[in-house]
Amino acid sequence: MKIADQMMRFRVTDGQGFRLAEHDTAETCGLDKDHAQSLLADGVKRLAELQEKLYAQDRWSVLAIFQAMDAAGKDGAIKHVMSGINPQGCQVFSFKAPSEKELDHDFMWRTTQCLPERGRIGIFNRSYYEEVLVVRVHPELLARQKLPRELVTERIWSERFEDIRAFERYLARNGTIILKFFLHLSKEEQRRRFLERLEEPAKRWKFSLGDVEERKRWDAYMAAYEDMIRHTATPQAPWWVVPADKKWFARLAVAAALVDALAKRDLRFPKVTGPALADLEKARKRLEAEAPRRKRS
Ligand code: ATP
Ligand code: MG
Repeated sequence: MKIADQMMRFRVTDGQGFRLAEHDTAETCGLDKDHAQSLLADGVKRLAELQEKLYAQDRWSVLAIFQAMDAAGKDGAIKHVMSGINPQGCQVFSFKAPSEKELDHDFMWRTTQCLPERGRIGIFNRSYYEEVLVVRVHPELLARQKLPRELVTERIWSERFEDIRAFERYLARNGTIILKFFLHLSKEEQRRRFLERLEEPAKRWKFSLGDVEERKRWDAYMAAYEDMIRHTATPQAPWWVVPADKKWFARLAVAAALVDALAKRDLRFPKVTGPALADLEKARKRLEAEAPRRKRS
């Protein structure tokens, strides 16, 4: 089976009955690192070609959402997969703990303003999905959200899932291609990466004590991720559950998913026809009629 086809097993388009435990964090589809890296290079090139057409055609937009536990490799995946892309056609937004101003609005407000224009790829490094992850694991964060009391009931998570599904369906109907990546890391691999951050001076800045504190809530996070995927994986906005214990494999899987999503659309450079073509001909004649300037010596 082709590698691209094998990657399809990570795509979840119907969340019903989804079980995280059935997804291996260390899967590599039988590839070794070298082979995966050369496939990634091909994928990055292909993505760059597709993005040029996406931009020129100016019809579709792409929203790629990244969610994961700390040290799962979101930043590295974004950096490597997007490395071939024209920066003018791509924007990355990172969403951290919300500000006071953001808390004065509905939970989608801050991300809505960052949605990609037509022709562009927008990347969300964390997103409104934090609202059913960290906020669910930490009830005190929900308490800070200034919601009217009577609206905060035990149904709040299923209501948020419903609103997110509706919102993504709306975006899809307006021409946004949505891909959601959950970089699925094992608890042991996170421990190893935290230790590495502590040991290597160039990585120390990434470490925060809070990250180790969150690790204690690992099971609660996994339950929240599983429930999120169950309720928000749809054909128009699938979740990609990417095995992330091997960074090189996670990057390849993300690139393959993006290539798959774009290659399925009929992306093409706009054709110049009719009067516009006649204008081009006129322009060519004028340029050719100009005397070439002499080069200064
Ligand atoms: P990352 O961990 O993504 O590499 P970082 O370490 O540079 O980024 P942090 O300061 O850890 O950035 O900010 C991300 C933190 O913000 C995470 O702990 C995340 O759970 C939290 N966060 C994001 N969105 C929300 C939200 N809507 N409500 C509460 N906390 C949020
Ligand atoms: Mg962090």
